[in-house]
Amino acid sequence: MKAEARAPQAYTTVYGEPPAGVWAAPGRVNLIGEHTDYNDGFVLPFALPHRTAVAASRHDDPSWIVYSEQTGETVRFTADDRITGWASYVAGVVWALRAAGYEIPPARLAVASDVPLGAGLSSSAAIECAVLAALADLGGLSVPVADRPALAQRAENEYVGMPCGIMDQSAATLSRAGHALFLDCRTLAVEHIPFDPAAAGLTVLVIDTRAPHRLVSGEYAARRAACERAAATLGLAALRDLAVADLPAALRRLPDPDRRRVRHVVTENQRVLDTVRLLRDGRPREIGPLLTASHESLRDDFEVTVPELDVAVEAALRAGALGARMTGGGFGGCVLALIEAPSAGLVTDAVTAAFAALGFAKPVAFPATPGPGAGRLHTG
Ligand code: ADP
Ligand code: MG
Repeated sequence: MKAEARAPQAYTTVYGEPPAGVWAAPGRVNLIGEHTDYNDGFVLPFALPHRTAVAASRHDDPSWIVYSEQTGETVRFTADDRITGWASYVAGVVWALRAAGYEIPPARLAVASDVPLGAGLSSSAAIECAVLAALADLGGLSVPVADRPALAQRAENEYVGMPCGIMDQSAATLSRAGHALFLDCRTLAVEHIPFDPAAAGLTVLVIDTRAPHRLVSGEYAARRAACERAAATLGLAALRDLAVADLPAALRRLPDPDRRRVRHVVTENQRVLDTVRLLRDGRPREIGPLLTASHESLRDDFEVTVPELDVAVEAALRAGALGARMTGGGFGGCVLALIEAPSAGLVTDAVTAAFAALGFAKPVAFPATPGPGAGRLHTG
């Protein structure tokens, strides 16, 4: 049973009556554009078919109550509480909406998810954006869809305390089926780029390496700091403002490893633009080399890969993938591979065998078809 069906069932079990409605938001995978979001750059994620569902109703008690199937816990909080733990992703959304001046109705919620937690597929944005959609609708509030990503990001940055960029919440909210979301992280302009791998005889295989996340938050902060430092040295507002043509001169002014961090960000922004151009031209096969170049840059220049990510990419390419790269922040998480649809089994087997030979955890692979963003279910 899918999360969209489990959430109302859980709601009814926990609260003893059916919910007023069910809302859902997807996890995401980033096709290309890694560690560019906080440099005011470009990203190209798409929504997964895996979704987080929230069943909810208003209630009279001046508090919010949330149950999650993932934890089996029920947490209650009021507008004055500052809570921690998994329910902070829900309380953070209430807080961010209230901080923006919205009158959020007290409510009870039940959450179920098909997005693997902590795998780099953004279960955090999925729960935030599903809760945001639920609370906005329950309150009859007109929260402009264009404002929702920033509200959910604020919940995660300032309430949960995770300094994430705006990509995940944008993908979870704004994605369209059959399209990737081309997002300019400076202007927040979005463009829906047709991307239907199946129609082209292709599959995007997502491989969850299940590598334990190591050092993530410290290393993430260190990369952000290096990028900010380099931009300041170069007199730029952000690394987004450095063109590929000006890269050689700029790199001469920077110490290592900052120069390699900058080289990654600048070339990665260009790879996103090149990918968008190829997809617009209906040439999806040709993005393969850009994906692989992105991985090499993340491995050698940005240094955010781990052996599991490198081994999965190498095995996928050896088995015939058109391109492959780590996706998400790195230090664990997932790899994506663009493959001819009939080779899905071959590539999965090759990665599984390579992992077994090295004693890594068994990877989990699934095909990712671009799905829609957050919304209400009209069955709930
Ligand atoms: P990712 O977003 O890549 O999955 P994060 O560390 O950003 O990883 O977010 C995962 C965290 O989000 C979980 O540890 C949990 O606290 C919270 N979370 C996400 N989905 C749920 C859910 N369905 N139920 C409870 N908590 C959730
Ligand atoms: Mg997250």
